[in-house]
Amino acid sequence: MPGSAVEPARLIGCPIVRGTVHHVSEPASNDCLFCKIVSGAVPATVVRRTDRVVAFRDIDPKAPTHILVIPTAHLATAVEVAAHDPALLGELVMVAGDLAAEDGIAGSGYRLVLNTGKDGGQTVFHAHIHLLGGRPMSWPPG
Ligand code: AMP
Ligand code: ZN
Repeated sequence: MPGSAVEPARLIGCPIVRGTVHHVSEPASNDCLFCKIVSGAVPATVVRRTDRVVAFRDIDPKAPTHILVIPTAHLATAVEVAAHDPALLGELVMVAGDLAAEDGIAGSGYRLVLNTGKDGGQTVFHAHIHLLGGRPMSWPPG
């Protein structure tokens, strides 16, 4: 595995580890709702699944299209994803764009949201991108 000289579990919490790109293989967290969706223990309307990314429809949609795109690895925030595996953050964004096209909103436009931390509105601490579209979005957000 590239960059496996350092045990992956020891990298969590370290924003930069000697400039090496590490491919994260964090174990699922027993307490994490989104890890349970990844494993199938909690049902969801899954619209995309790879070995590194899962996407599913939000249970409480805020727009006609509201999809959550998450890494299969348990990482708390998108910043942690970027710190430990920048390519994985790119994959999340690419999947969001692809699903926007599938839902027919790529042309009209959409919003990608990364709520980060309590004041950012994050309630589930497993990194996720909200893909919102199918209606005009207002600005500024609440
Ligand atoms: P955030 O507030 O940014 O952490 O977003 C968490 C999102 O997860 C919210 O939009 C919730 O509606 C959504 N959510 C919570 N539980 C589920 C579930 N079981 N299936 C799908 N989406 C969920
Ligand atoms: Zn998790």
